[in-house]
Amino acid sequence: SRSDVYYFGAGPAALPQVVLERASASVLNHDNSGVGLIEQSHRSASSTQIVASACQHLETLLGVPKDGSYTTLWMQGGGTTQFSAVAYNLLGYWVQKSLDANNGDLEAVKAALANAKADYLVTGSWSKKAAEEAQRLLGDELVNVATNSKAATKKFGSIAPEETWNLTPKENNIFSYFCDNETVDGVEFPAFPASLEGTLVAADMSSNILSRRVDVSKYAIIFAGAQKNVGGAGVTLVVIRSDILKTQPTVDTLRKLGLPIPPIMCHYPTLTGASSLYNTLPIFEVFICREVMAGIIARGGLEAQEKVANEKAEELYSSLDQGGIYNVVPEKNVRSRMNICFRIEGGEDVEKAFLKGAEERGLTGLKGHRSVGGLRISNYNSIPQEAAAKLAGWIREFAASRK
Ligand code: PMP
Repeated sequence: SRSDVYYFGAGPAALPQVVLERASASVLNHDNSGVGLIEQSHRSASSTQIVASACQHLETLLGVPKDGSYTTLWMQGGGTTQFSAVAYNLLGYWVQKSLDANNGDLEAVKAALANAKADYLVTGSWSKKAAEEAQRLLGDELVNVATNSKAATKKFGSIAPEETWNLTPKENNIFSYFCDNETVDGVEFPAFPASLEGTLVAADMSSNILSRRVDVSKYAIIFAGAQKNVGGAGVTLVVIRSDILKTQPTVDTLRKLGLPIPPIMCHYPTLTGASSLYNTLPIFEVFICREVMAGIIARGGLEAQEKVANEKAEELYSSLDQGGIYNVVPEKNVRSRMNICFRIEGGEDVEKAFLKGAEERGLTGLKGHRSVGGLRISNYNSIPQEAAAKLAGWIREFAASRK
């Protein structure tokens, strides 16, 4: 049963028991309406209220400025849809700004575009995919991979020093993009990459959102698929600087410039203009996110959550470091607090034995991503401290048994 297992899967990931209990009741009879939450209209008063309060909780937790300078959005399509949406909307913003600065002269915008680039920091599998999507949509000429961790070392697991990044001069930078936490490779930015300051920065926080405090004002766009730290699969949260929504070119302008036209479901102004309800949003998934966030707020917000996340990660890494048989994949300075990726000396059979012993102890979901193998502990917010402690105990016990 649930109470026998601690599940460390990377996403979809474990959710708090109380949230699932509340959600289960809502599926059958939401708020005593006699209608289940999955069945009710996304335009009902109660749905609108769920979306609005989910926005509020998110803004409270992230400390989003209250002056309207940012807008919060719930979308479908997962993190992957944001790879496209970010590229379309930030290129759109740049084009409209350039058009305004050049008094509507399309030839001047074309000339400026010839030197303009979006900078991508490729530090793992997900930022690689995002960069590839930008290249596919915008064309190679508009995309600059400013750093690629794999190029030098053949595998992900490091972030090159900022002074080695090949960044586009600020006046020609369309936007900058990075993935704050690489779920597959276990690489997390220790802090905001300072050399991106002064550019429009988009960050994928799918796997570490709400696990530490964030200075929202440094970002143009923050997005996160919900299914790791916030809820289930099916919704993605987006926080967007409001001026980006207001400054977008017409379809006609884009056509004249030969630039791609965003599908309506990737056009942020359309979606925010309808308060996330341009089309049918899965309200049940937003409800789960709201309940998860209410729990984090009740426990002291992101400062408290960050402390717990760090403590659990430290305990797990120290048991790995002291074990003598484990090799943590990423370099020490970029180790993820959320996805702890490691190999065990002796090869796959030993790793299988570790997994088998873990499962016998009710510690599940520890297999590494299929693209890289090895083991991965996903230490998301809903992993209780006692689960991390129990797993650290097994890591120590297994190491001792191998000596
Ligand atoms: N970004 C990151 C950091 C992820 O971990 C994932 C999914 N694991 C994605 C993007 C893609 O998300 P989705 O599957 O929701 O499209």
